[in-house]
Amino acid sequence: MPRRKLGTRARAAWSDVAVRAGLGTSWLSPKLGLGGGSIIGGRVTLALDRGALARLAVGRRIVLVSGTNGKTTTSHLLAAALRTAGPVAHNSSGANMPDGAVAALSAARDAKLAVIEVDELHVAEVAEAVDPVAIVLLNLSRDQLDRGNEVRSVAKALSQALAHHPETTVIANADDPMVVWAALPAAHVVWVAAGVGWTGDVTTCPQCGRTLAVGDGHWACECGLARPQPTWSAEDGAAVTGGTRTPVALNLPGRFNLGNAVMAMAGAAVAGVEPAAAAAAMGAVQEVAGRYSTVWHGRHELRLLLAKNPAGWAETLGLLDEARPLLVMINAREADGRDTSWLWDVPFEELGPRPVAAAGERSPDIGLRLSYAGIEHTTVADPLGAIAALPPGKVDVVANYTAFHQLQRRLAAAAGNGESRA
Ligand SMILES: [Zn+2]
Repeated sequence: MPRRKLGTRARAAWSDVAVRAGLGTSWLSPKLGLGGGSIIGGRVTLALDRGALARLAVGRRIVLVSGTNGKTTTSHLLAAALRTAGPVAHNSSGANMPDGAVAALSAARDAKLAVIEVDELHVAEVAEAVDPVAIVLLNLSRDQLDRGNEVRSVAKALSQALAHHPETTVIANADDPMVVWAALPAAHVVWVAAGVGWTGDVTTCPQCGRTLAVGDGHWACECGLARPQPTWSAEDGAAVTGGTRTPVALNLPGRFNLGNAVMAMAGAAVAGVEPAAAAAAMGAVQEVAGRYSTVWHGRHELRLLLAKNPAGWAETLGLLDEARPLLVMINAREADGRDTSWLWDVPFEELGPRPVAAAGERSPDIGLRLSYAGIEHTTVADPLGAIAALPPGKVDVVANYTAFHQLQRRLAAAAGNGESRA
């Protein structure tokens, strides 16, 4: 950024240069073999204009989506719902740091609506810049151990951020005690009974540390913190609010995705989209950045699922077809968390007898865990080699974050070489 103080006009012109430079970089990056490009483009824009995110947000109605699990899926559902009202800017690839938000807003400068998925640790920074109309807060559980943040400290930081935005409506999951505690200081909260697949990190009260009383869909603590009365709830394939039941027929599997959809519907309502229109649009979403998609590779029909922590696995285990061969692929790069000890909190014992292969850069870690769970398996670090070791036909694939993207690239390259049919 130029050091001398710029006039308003010069500032706008410079801001435009910064956005164009970022877009140019995004366009060039894949051509130079430097990857997808949206993040690096956003970084270039931010390097030239530190206030780019705030400037790009002016005049738009922006909804942020955050939480430990389901951010990408929920933001895709919400973006589909909002598109019924006009063009939507969206960081659809899941680049959920400020640079990803800048890239998404740069790429759709005419969109008056935006859905921005935000990493839990960056909500304060992004909200400060974009002044969102709503923040959707899905759940808070342990994610990547070596990011050095306990769930409670993440919740504390979030609650401070929410308190700074009295005009923003917070859509919060009433079933997650940590989310409720984080959302308490917010001025406007819409509580949603979206369900939780995992309570392993919240058996004690986030407010006082006592043991929570849990039962019949309710939870409460002696200190007074308790499940708020929800105004929306996810019930048997429908969203219920104000006595009205709207059927939600998703193409995405699982009870937790219905919860994500109802959270998205509550967010869409704040932006002016009616539940029926939102539900119809969300029903057309077939996959989310490759997740839930089906890909052929040789004689195997792979269903691709992503799970990156114990809570994600708790939900994913329920989706796996009984006895269908399974590939589990685990990496431990920075974006995954370097520590794989979370694998010991996943109840792999529930898998039961089926052909299982362990793959990925940390295949020995997942292999060891499966051995302790008594699950017979083969360990082959190379994912395509591991697939080849499984019986032909349908295979469920569950990978964590960088493993998922690595596998997608390998499968695409193999398809390009004629090793696979579409
Ligand atoms: Zn308490």
